[in-house]
Amino acid sequence: MKAEAPVKPHIGDLTIEELREALAGLGEPGYRADQVFGWLYKKAADGFEAMSNLPKAFRDKLAGAFRIGPLELFGVARSKDGTEKRLFRLADGPCVETVLIPAGGRMTVCVSTQVGCRRACAFCASGLNGFVRNLSPSEIVGQILALRHALDAPLTNIVFMGMGEPFDNFDNLARSLRILNAPQGLEIAARRMTVSTAGLIPGILRFKELDLQVNLSISLHASNDETRTALMPVNKKYPIEKLIAAAKDYIAGGGRKITLEYILFRGINDGAQDAEGLTRIAARLRAKINLIPYSPVHGLPFQTPSEAEIQAFLKRLEETGVPVTLRHSKGRDIQAACGQLAGSLIEEYRKARK
Ligand code: SF4
Repeated sequence: MKAEAPVKPHIGDLTIEELREALAGLGEPGYRADQVFGWLYKKAADGFEAMSNLPKAFRDKLAGAFRIGPLELFGVARSKDGTEKRLFRLADGPCVETVLIPAGGRMTVCVSTQVGCRRACAFCASGLNGFVRNLSPSEIVGQILALRHALDAPLTNIVFMGMGEPFDNFDNLARSLRILNAPQGLEIAARRMTVSTAGLIPGILRFKELDLQVNLSISLHASNDETRTALMPVNKKYPIEKLIAAAKDYIAGGGRKITLEYILFRGINDGAQDAEGLTRIAARLRAKINLIPYSPVHGLPFQTPSEAEIQAFLKRLEETGVPVTLRHSKGRDIQAACGQLAGSLIEEYRKARK
């Protein structure tokens, strides 16, 4: 029986330093890596043959050593409010989703880092569908690349808040941030990127060591352990006080300011005591609060508070002087809450593999 040829690495999985090293191994000088990076990220070349100013012999060498190619766009859903969701199908079948959010002169892309998620937050469509696999750097960056070159307007902000827990895929996340930030590539400023975690303490500590000045946001969603554990099982392992200690350590180590994400659920975390607890945590961390009214997910029992309840909660926070912004979920008509659209496709993928 003929042995299968090993799968070549995707060239988009490499940082500029790794590419330089790999090309040195092929006998190529260092500047070739800068040229290739420019083709991949500034000119969005989708094949080696498109890199027209590189010698043919070098392009052949590249093709012999690496795979190349963009993500396959599987579908687009556009909301009345301008939010757009793109579904990308990965080479092995499952889909991931990327959300484009135009607002206030910004063009923000919400990127996925995993297919599904193993953290099983009670309110989340991605959690509902379980974990399938991590995304590679080329699959993470590929979402941004596809949008960047499809739009007239420049992308201003990247948030890692789509499907998956970014710190559960730490190495590929770190590589992706370096690729996005590289001056030879997409040149996206670190302060324009935000990584959002459910509160994985080892990830926060490693993130500090990266020293990239990328923003960190923590999904808190409750100010006491009982409620938080019910909403987010990750809280059992990394409870609130330990999480605060890690966040303080991160800030003391030179990290940028932290944002606390807080989804408001009716009757669960929207009372006066919840507001008080939340402002106390925010004050201890000198953090900004991002308040997000819950966006319903089909099949889950949670409710969105009424506008009056949302405003009352917001007022309680504002009265304490902590910086707070209210961000209404966008794209409700296209199921823009993370994982909603891709979830059904992941289910299909699983069935097909059985
Ligand atoms: S909210 Fe985030 S961490 Fe929790 S299950 Fe969903 S994707 Fe995973």
